[in-house]
Amino acid sequence: MSTPAAPATNTPNPTAPGAIRVRPLLRESTASYLNRLAGTYRLDSHQLLEGIGITIHGRPGSTPGHSEIVLSPTALHHVATFARVPELQLALGRGIHGSGGPDPSHPTARWQPLEPARQPTRTCPQCTLRHTHGTTSQAWAYQAQHRRLCPRHHQWGTPPGDTASLNTRALPELAQAHHAHRRLVRRPDPTTTYQWADMITTRWYDHHQHLTQRWHHRLTRLADTNPTPAHGRSWALTGRDALTYPETVALARHLTRTPRGQTGTGFLDQTAHALGLDRLVLPTDDLLRAWIHTKRERPRHRCL
Ligand SMILES: [Zn+2]
Repeated sequence: MSTPAAPATNTPNPTAPGAIRVRPLLRESTASYLNRLAGTYRLDSHQLLEGIGITIHGRPGSTPGHSEIVLSPTALHHVATFARVPELQLALGRGIHGSGGPDPSHPTARWQPLEPARQPTRTCPQCTLRHTHGTTSQAWAYQAQHRRLCPRHHQWGTPPGDTASLNTRALPELAQAHHAHRRLVRRPDPTTTYQWADMITTRWYDHHQHLTQRWHHRLTRLADTNPTPAHGRSWALTGRDALTYPETVALARHLTRTPRGQTGTGFLDQTAHALGLDRLVLPTDDLLRAWIHTKRERPRHRCL
């Protein structure tokens, strides 16, 4: 792995562009980007930000991706100038929205913890190595669901608590699902249906329902071809999103194609067929029943 030549001095100038242009990856978290930018100059992000005149509040989490750094507009301008990337604001992933950010008139930055559901996921190491010109294989980005799998390198982006992405070469059905998922996202408003499908298959997985045997076989193949999860984490949890992915996409496609009012007789047989099951018998509290219920309801009024 080669490292770009460091400039003559390691102390950044608050007003001058740096020696090396460092672009963010697609939807990269700000903390991940700053970490890479600083690493290019053999600094940590704290040293870099102070070096370009930015005051930092709060402390980073112990694991990258568990917390995000929020830059004030002035601080963002400083970073964009130093990194020589004027369009930086548009390129970075937006991990934190809303008000309560740092004082916009001062170059300030604030560390903020992220809830697990809002944390970025690990990017494909091989793609990251290529995009960063060999400087690092590690980065975190707010990747859309259909981008968590790199079909070229068979890598599944894991949450920050995991120490590596998952190699899914032993699960070719994930790459097939990925192609179907890319077609799905071209349809109008696929996100809500996908979220439903994701919640449903996650519940089935957690409650050992309907597809347990298939997912267990998949888990065995995944565990055989990847290092043991660190920090005592279980394979069942580490692999969950990847293991259920083909059925999540299949279910999302099926639900997307089901018109309103077409959830009567035959719907469960069609759903079973879409999932490659002989039949599907739903317990009374099955989440798919909740989806059917919302599909049967007619909206009484428009709501935002
Ligand atoms: Zn890749």
